[in-house]
Amino acid sequence: MVDPILDANQNRDAYYKRVAPLYGPAFDNKVLGVCGGESALETALLLARCGVRSFAIGPGAEALPELLRAQNPWEDRWNFETLEKARIVVADSEAPVGFRSPAPVLRLTILPANRAVRARIDAIPAYEAWPTVERAENEEPVSPEAINRLAALTRAELLRGSPHEPAEARLLLCSPRTSVLFGHARWPWWIRGFEREAADDWIKAQPADESGKPVSRRGRVLVVGCGSLGSIAAESLAPYVEALILSDPERVDLENLVRQAYEPNEVGRWKAEALAERLARYGAHTQALMRAEEDTPDGIRKFGDLLDRFRPDLAILTTGTGAEYAMAVALRKRGIRHVAARCYARARFFELILVDGANGPCFHCLREQVHTGPAPSLTPEQHARYDPTWRPGELNAEPATVLDSGYCAQALARAGLELLKPPSERAPWLSETLGQERTCWLGANHAERDVRGHWAYGIDCPGKLVTFGVEDIVGAAPGERCSVCGREWLPEKRSDSGKELAAGA
Ligand SMILES: [Zn+2]
Repeated sequence: MVDPILDANQNRDAYYKRVAPLYGPAFDNKVLGVCGGESALETALLLARCGVRSFAIGPGAEALPELLRAQNPWEDRWNFETLEKARIVVADSEAPVGFRSPAPVLRLTILPANRAVRARIDAIPAYEAWPTVERAENEEPVSPEAINRLAALTRAELLRGSPHEPAEARLLLCSPRTSVLFGHARWPWWIRGFEREAADDWIKAQPADESGKPVSRRGRVLVVGCGSLGSIAAESLAPYVEALILSDPERVDLENLVRQAYEPNEVGRWKAEALAERLARYGAHTQALMRAEEDTPDGIRKFGDLLDRFRPDLAILTTGTGAEYAMAVALRKRGIRHVAARCYARARFFELILVDGANGPCFHCLREQVHTGPAPSLTPEQHARYDPTWRPGELNAEPATVLDSGYCAQALARAGLELLKPPSERAPWLSETLGQERTCWLGANHAERDVRGHWAYGIDCPGKLVTFGVEDIVGAAPGERCSVCGREWLPEKRSDSGKELAAGA
């Protein structure tokens, strides 16, 4: 909360409370250059929420100082330098043709809508001319995930050589690989590093794809939990749904702003109410509920009443509490489609469970039931709290950035929008994973190998999402059935890794 009795420094520190444990002063004096249009500005604003305060304003980015002050009015240490001082420059395709940056650049290009690959990020050395990359009038709308990946790569470059440099930073961009392609029609979270010319060739070899058509407005969506996942997902869904019912028992706190979809003037307000009011601008009917769901007989009855009253077509569960088990039972009983999402420690990894109404495996078949292969190392918070009384399903208050939890929220919104469609209109990647009953998805902002050289969860690169399913349920006895959906569990295969839908070579 903004407390007038607290002095300005205390408010400023409260703003960074959820990210300070991650980076400390690592971003001090690391200058981020910004050049081009909206995508580059958005990237810079995301990084400011991670703690970056020094910027160099390049062509097209003149609005940045004002945007930064509006995003975080408690910060008084903004520092603006010239591009020569920048450690790295973020740019998008609105950056001027022929511009040669005095500092190395990461440039995002959104590819034409009929291309199978959606976005490209090129690392360009200082003073090198921009490579010409195919651009067309029929660009895809810029996907929030592409901006997110640009920001994540930029963060790694800013931290290069510091103790905070992410260990996996060089998996994608590392000589001779200077181009990253992202977002394949076959699997929206496909990501790979290439040599520049090889990236050109790879794009040309892909068949045209027409699946990126505009989405028509449809469906009533209930979002339970409007924190770092629910609020961002609701914001992404708002332009495409008929109604949003937003439910959360809490008020906006100053420390929420770095990771959640709230604005400074909303601090102190009910989260659901502030969000419902603002998202109504997108044309959806919005409604706010200030309530907590509880796993008690009374709580279960009230949640059932809520479902019968609002009759949502889709529910999104992002409370991070054990009450999601009871909520999922109520949804399944009514045949309501739902997606439950949660981040693991520090949002290094995250999980989505998709349930297609009354079809396929249910939430109970999959949550905490799936063998996901080698686990990553513990975070400092997990070490500190290592405690045998910890209950599975309960979320610890972990520090994380908007880049990391935001990537989960965007995947959640994309999966939810697709699940809202009737089966015949769904993207092949959704139909295929539902058909294979691989509806527990794990995503990564981080990649880590254990001492035996095995990747945590089988994910060898940050940005990937992989799928697990009924054949990965741990220790299912022959003939054992789920107590909720009655589905017979298959004998476990223990493949030790999730599957990514293949996207060509
Ligand atoms: Zn089940």
